[in-house]
Amino acid sequence: MDKESGAGARDSQERYKEAELLKDSRILEHTHSFIVEYNFKTKQCYIDPAQRKHVYGDWNSEYSEKRNFSRIALKEDIPKLNELFDFTGLKPGDSKSTAARFYVKSHTYEWFRVSLICYGEPDGEIERVLITFTNAEQELETVQKLKFLLARDPLTHMPNMDSFRQMTEAMIQRHPDLSYALIRMDIDKFRMINQMYGTKEGDNILRYIGVKIQEWIGPLQEEDNDSTYGRISSDIFYVCMPANASDIQEIIDFIQAALRAYPIKFEMIMSFGVYITCEADRTEHVSVSTLMDRAASAQKTVKNSYVNHVAYYDHLIRKKEVAERIIVSEMKKALETEQFQVYLQPKCEMDTGKIIGSEALVRWIHPSQGIISPGEFIPVFEKNGFISELDYYMLRSSCEIIRRWIDEGIGLHPISVNVSRTDLYNPNLLEQIKECVDKYEVPHDLIEFELTESAFVSDNMQLYNLAKLLQENHFRVLMDDFGSGYSSLNSLREIPVDVLKIDLKFLPPSSDDKRGNVILHSIVDMAKRLGLDVIVEGVETAGQAEFLLSIGCRNAQGFYFYRPMPVSEYEQCLDKPKETGLSGCVQ
Ligand code: C2E
Ligand code: MG
Ligand code: MG
Repeated sequence: MDKESGAGARDSQERYKEAELLKDSRILEHTHSFIVEYNFKTKQCYIDPAQRKHVYGDWNSEYSEKRNFSRIALKEDIPKLNELFDFTGLKPGDSKSTAARFYVKSHTYEWFRVSLICYGEPDGEIERVLITFTNAEQELETVQKLKFLLARDPLTHMPNMDSFRQMTEAMIQRHPDLSYALIRMDIDKFRMINQMYGTKEGDNILRYIGVKIQEWIGPLQEEDNDSTYGRISSDIFYVCMPANASDIQEIIDFIQAALRAYPIKFEMIMSFGVYITCEADRTEHVSVSTLMDRAASAQKTVKNSYVNHVAYYDHLIRKKEVAERIIVSEMKKALETEQFQVYLQPKCEMDTGKIIGSEALVRWIHPSQGIISPGEFIPVFEKNGFISELDYYMLRSSCEIIRRWIDEGIGLHPISVNVSRTDLYNPNLLEQIKECVDKYEVPHDLIEFELTESAFVSDNMQLYNLAKLLQENHFRVLMDDFGSGYSSLNSLREIPVDVLKIDLKFLPPSSDDKRGNVILHSIVDMAKRLGLDVIVEGVETAGQAEFLLSIGCRNAQGFYFYRPMPVSEYEQCLDKPKETGLSGCVQ
């Protein structure tokens, strides 16, 4: 391959010879590897005679320091080869290697791994250098295959999450002036499809969607594609393509139509979240992951909706995200500086208006934004786990309040605190509760716990354990929001509770809804027969209250009687209970 080059005339002769041999193109094509030896003592270069005919150049000629690879190796790789063949500083025993592309008979370049090892007396000079040229095309092919497998989702053969992200990042960088649409697609109730038709059919559907997406976009080019796609996980697919409104609508229609055409007796619907990139994304170097999150936020607003299946990320979603970020960044300080306050909503007897207890409901008194309602921050805290700290704070504050009532002789009624689902996974929860209540020397029957039934069986096990432990320690347990979840009746059978708290939001009584009224009536009867107390929350009108009284339900918590209020106001209400104007017709 290489040959030494002298000066002047000899150099041009050599080049002529090289050109001749190049024409002949007998380079390394018949052999996967061959060995060359340079002997520094004899200044000779040796190559196995059997292999010599396959290479060009005068390999037996004198060795020279000045090498010339320009005719046989790809220009880009020559600096690497020059570096490899620089022996300065090398000692016997040293070795090095590189990979370079050499010209082969088929008039293309192929990859070779070139390794050399130096021989000589220990601590002496290098005497010989042995160089191995090994064709690495096959090795590379394997590496390419592995790379392909690593970058692909094995089910659909589409790019996987990492690969989609990388390809999209590169594509956006290549076309900084273009605006792109990131579209997230997700099948509604895919879990149900898996349950009803089996995971094999589920897989078939995913493959089918993969094929349809690829059919619309076309195959991805290795280098300069103008769109990308990938399956990120389970039934979540992403497409990134130039933001053209009609194209976006077209691909969405195409996928929806394909799903409708799939031979299955289940109406498969996909929801789509779209994010359109803008100038600010480029200047602020917003990552593809963030762009994907925005498409996901948009999609979340229409998932499982019967009306809309497509949502674009807009300023409202951005506002909500910003608000969430502010909540997260301020929550710790807010807790330390007592911005969270306990509001009490009285529970009362509907006929007399007499207060029988209260529920502790948190309010965030924000220094600049005023009162923030729990609906805004509780879901955020449930997501990031901060809810446990807040619940503990609410428990401690409630204990402090009762302690003061005991000390000051204020009318004593229990306060119930809410237990979030996240708390259920705290193995020390009961110990922490007991320690806190006992520290304030509050009798256990003055603190009650509101647990919410869960739609998930695994949660119900934790719920069962906690309810049992609380009861064993003489705390009363309320089943909150009864009527909301999937498993109300079942959980009643399993979870030990003292009070059923029926939420009228889910079972509103009305004169036009006879069946609904019958259900409510039956629940109240059933609870009584199970020996449970009943309280109804969300009572907003006199009519509702009267109906409840008529079916034997006496206790309520609702805006018709009392709204949640600061503790001082609650204390005033104790002295003058509300005139309810209702006749007590409890059965
Ligand atoms: P929840 O535990 O079911 O509390 C009852 C909610 O219903 C309260 O909303 C209360 O203000 C509202 N409410 C009471 N009567 C009526 C009525 O007649 N009509 C209507 N429309 N609403 C009524 P709030 O205070 O906004 O709390 C909402 C939810 O936030 C609570 O539902 C509870 O799940 C959660 N929450 C509040 N404070 C805490 C807390 O300290 N810890 C935990 N984990 N959750 C809390
Ligand atoms: Mg509650
Ligand atoms: Mg409730």
